Amino acid sequence: MNDHDSEKMAGILRSFGLRAAESEQDADIILLNTCSIREKAAHKIFTRLGQLRSLKAQRPQMILGVCGCVAQQEQEQIFTRAPYVDIVMGPRRIGSLPDLIEESRQRRHALAVFDPRDALVPELDLVHRLSRTRAYVTVMEGCNKTCTYCIVPFTRGREVCRPQEAILAEVRRCIDDGMVEIELLGQNVNAWRHDTWDFARLLAAVAEVPGVLRTRFTTSHPLHFRDPIIDAMASHESICHHLHLPVQSGSDAVLERMRRGYTVSEYRGRVERLRQRIPDISLSTDIIVGFPGETEADFARTLDLVSEMRFETVFSFIYSPRPYTPAAEYQDDVKLEEKKDRLRRLQVIQDSIRMEIVRELEGSTVEVLVDGPAARGQGRVGGRTEQNYLVNLEGDPALVGQLVQVRIERAGPHSLTGSLETGLTSSVLRNIDRVVHSTGIRSHHGAEP
Ligand code: SAH
Ligand code: SF4
Repeated sequence: MNDHDSEKMAGILRSFGLRAAESEQDADIILLNTCSIREKAAHKIFTRLGQLRSLKAQRPQMILGVCGCVAQQEQEQIFTRAPYVDIVMGPRRIGSLPDLIEESRQRRHALAVFDPRDALVPELDLVHRLSRTRAYVTVMEGCNKTCTYCIVPFTRGREVCRPQEAILAEVRRCIDDGMVEIELLGQNVNAWRHDTWDFARLLAAVAEVPGVLRTRFTTSHPLHFRDPIIDAMASHESICHHLHLPVQSGSDAVLERMRRGYTVSEYRGRVERLRQRIPDISLSTDIIVGFPGETEADFARTLDLVSEMRFETVFSFIYSPRPYTPAAEYQDDVKLEEKKDRLRRLQVIQDSIRMEIVRELEGSTVEVLVDGPAARGQGRVGGRTEQNYLVNLEGDPALVGQLVQVRIERAGPHSLTGSLETGLTSSVLRNIDRVVHSTGIRSHHGAEP
């Protein structure tokens, strides 16, 4: 979500004719987009500001801004702690960026934060997308849940859903710009609703936009993950068989104190239904260890759940008390050493599960959407499978944006290596299929493509 917010800010700056600087020494404007989900992330920003202080002293005309959730959380206090900062802008105030730049030239400090009850979400058409193949599309802002550990409802405000017409128009513009994969974004993306539409209907409508080869969505809340969404996923070829469904803990007692609104067996039930309908679904999740009152027995239940679920990826975090959250009042009674040990034990188990899963892919052929040069190695490109595995292969940059068939040769903990199967790319095959379908060749002549 923060990456996409940065794309929106870059789009606004480019619309004034600005372009990306080669280095921070050359920059006329530096905006730090920040995260305050955990204390460590929030701390980082002040370290970074300290590093930029001398640059600002050398070049006082340079505009330095703090954006995102730390800006919303700390507001004017950022100016007190770091008076050389010019702009403080909360995540729902991205549309104010032009005014803030203007204002910071006239006055020392320019501030734009929002009232969390504010329902305003500006429509921002100016997005500078970093990927040429995959586009993020925001469907909703904010969160109406009250998970006791989480600062997001405070920093991003109450839920506001964009109308389906605006979302679908943005999807069509992305396709016109050459994108082939759409990722719908929201803190609780599957809680989206507007007029008579629910998320399942929106998902299906996006997947049906001509030219959309892949559709993803994140983050889903288990409470809102209902059967119509599974139906949409099962009946649309372009919806990826991958789901990020954060569980947070394998203990009902902990889930209750977290106020997540579901039990472990309800979570398990949703996953079972999903796996029955879509057997090759891959799942990822988020887990917090060391939440107040988490006993060794609670944690053991989390380990058991992880072993049972066989997630593709587990994003695991040490609990971090956050201001303005109910859990900040709970006694943070799990010692830091214990929290670290639990995190390590969880990661050891998950790493071995992940290796088992990816090893099974060795020797198989998978479909990869090539989205750019590989991180390392000349003449190599990289992309993701539908199940979200990163695959690197030898290939020409002309393959970017294509769905190709790749034979997996080696599986590592972070990525897979394979080689291109020769023959028509899947993108071409799908297009043929679509043409055959829409012209009715198949039904009139009984011909298979
Ligand atoms: N809306 C999403 C998650 C957003 S925050 C959801 O409900 O699933 C991303 C993840 O950060 C959360 O899933 C949680 O695992 C983690 N997180 C949030 N607050 C945290 C805190 N105070 N300490 C540690 N991890 C936290
Ligand atoms: Fe935070 Fe819970 Fe909202 Fe996710 S659902 S953003 S964890 S309050």
